[in-house]
Amino acid sequence: MSVAEIYENRATFSFEVFPPKTDVGMEKLCGAGGVLEKLYTLNPDYISCTYGAGGTNVGKNLEVLDKIRADGKCEPVTHFTCIGNTKEDIRNKLQTYLDHGIDHVLALRGDLPFGWTGTNGDLHYATELVKFIRKEFGDKFTIAVAGSPEGHIQCRSLEADIAFLKQKQDNGADFIISQLCWDMDAFRRWLDAIRDAGIWLPVDVGIMPILDQAATINMALSRNGCVMDRKLCEIISKNWIFPNPFDKEPFDADVEGKKASFKQAGIEYTINQIDQYRACGVDGIHLYALNKYDDVAYIAKAAGLIDLV
Ligand code: FAD
Repeated sequence: MSVAEIYENRATFSFEVFPPKTDVGMEKLCGAGGVLEKLYTLNPDYISCTYGAGGTNVGKNLEVLDKIRADGKCEPVTHFTCIGNTKEDIRNKLQTYLDHGIDHVLALRGDLPFGWTGTNGDLHYATELVKFIRKEFGDKFTIAVAGSPEGHIQCRSLEADIAFLKQKQDNGADFIISQLCWDMDAFRRWLDAIRDAGIWLPVDVGIMPILDQAATINMALSRNGCVMDRKLCEIISKNWIFPNPFDKEPFDADVEGKKASFKQAGIEYTINQIDQYRACGVDGIHLYALNKYDDVAYIAKAAGLIDLV
């Protein structure tokens, strides 16, 4: 059953993983008894796999998706971007996914590699990619697209960003996966605004478990400009590792203690955030599994997500 069909009956629950760079990482994720097999026990509807900026690590992306397809426990969804791809590349690469039985794609413009000012490909925006996929492949793909509740960092206005999201729907997208958003008021305003704009696509909320200080700050600020609410800032401040969480040799005497208490507070924060999103009436929860199982499983169970299916 396609993910789009599931939304007709109930909310979805899903994970995102990334293609590991090393053989050891691949074994940990895809090997017998590895993270993927453990994640299946939580009954996700789909697992998506990211696609490296500039097409890096594409081989491993396909290997990960092949494994999910072969195991048959949930739908594999590939992320795919316009970065560095000609139309011919896009046609060939998407056909390869189809040949491997992967017919769900998250169609993105892609993060611009450092120093790039455009996609260096034939298509410039996700709107064009959605249109191209529908033109070339008809209904063979279920297409997800990104939505940015706080507005994409490069958008000229939130209104313009919403108009482009509507265009993704008009061009044939099936559902939305939202960018990280810790500002619940901004999220509620955006959800109302997109519905007012005639966007009826299901909204699946992307959530990153708060487990590590540096990773959280990096994710919020290195690219996306996400607002961190007061509660999250407090958790970061109370557990600040001196001189700063990015330092490889911190002089803080309690590094391990602070990492542990940050993680504990972060897990509680994440569960609370999931509760708030579900109370907004979203159509799905998409957890960034970060290629981990234990903490992610704890969050999914405590938030009641594994009972959605
Ligand atoms: P677009 O929708 O194309 O928007 C980009 C900007 O252009 C926005 O400011 C928008 O307002 C503007 N715009 C859109 N259409 C038009 C138009 N027709 N004319 C003028 N302006 C326009 N990146 C990766 O590289 N690999 C991944 O695997 C990956 N996974 C992701 C998963 C999720 C759930 C999300 C939310 C993001 C992911 N990203 C990934 C990041 C994403 O590629 C970046 O956020 C990127 O900067 C924008 O992608 P987009 O599809 O939202 O772009």
